[in-house]
Amino acid sequence: MGGTFNPIHFGHLLLAETAYHQFDLDEILIMPTKNPYYKKLTNSVTEEDRVNMVQLAIEDNPHFHLSKEELDREGTTYTVETLKNLTEKNPDCDYYFIMGADSLYHIESWKEPESILQMAVIVVAGRGGSSSSLNSQIEYIENKYEANIFQLNSPNLEISSNDIRRRIRVGESIRYLLPQAVAEYIYSNHLYISSGEEE
Ligand code: NAP
Repeated sequence: MGGTFNPIHFGHLLLAETAYHQFDLDEILIMPTKNPYYKKLTNSVTEEDRVNMVQLAIEDNPHFHLSKEELDREGTTYTVETLKNLTEKNPDCDYYFIMGADSLYHIESWKEPESILQMAVIVVAGRGGSSSSLNSQIEYIENKYEANIFQLNSPNLEISSNDIRRRIRVGESIRYLLPQAVAEYIYSNHLYISSGEEE
């Protein structure tokens, strides 16, 4: 499960936990992206901060693991290269890539989508359950690329990293939106208090 995790919150954790059980997975790799080429992250938050927050968020869950696969690579990181590396390291593993519905609409613009869809089963988290538009997109991608795509049966927590950053900026509570240890890390490191918002 890749993402910016800026910051990680209960929405991400619930999706990961649901996928773990729904697909009977062995483990979940939580994989923070490098500060991505297609967006600018809030100035005050470093990759190390995002990693530290992920570590704090998952420390009580034995089947969640931090993966620095993308952070440790130089240059632009593409999902196709991540999956190639993981598959080379563990040729006997079946990989499931957990993504938000929005990503499934954009996946054809990613590098080598056909290879991504051959190397991983796609697990999509819809917003507010399944929709006919998402069902059509799944069918379209499955037919075009012979892909395996499944929807997560997860309660939809309307939590977003963007809203958490906004709340911190304006002094609203973030309690119950993310693990308390992550909230404490944010406050003690004065993260997100400036308005250098990401695009
Ligand atoms: P993101 O900015 O963290 O997430 C985009 C949106 O989806 C946000 O609304 C986010 O909510 C939500 N979200 C994040 N992770 C999710 C998950 N696992 N399941 C469901 N919803 C999720 O992440 P991103 O930049 O789109 O990247 C996501 C993954 O796609 C990464 O692994 C990235 O490397 C990959 N990707 C690859 C390419 C490529 O290969 N060309 C291009 C784009 C993305 P929050 O803001 O609340 O987190």
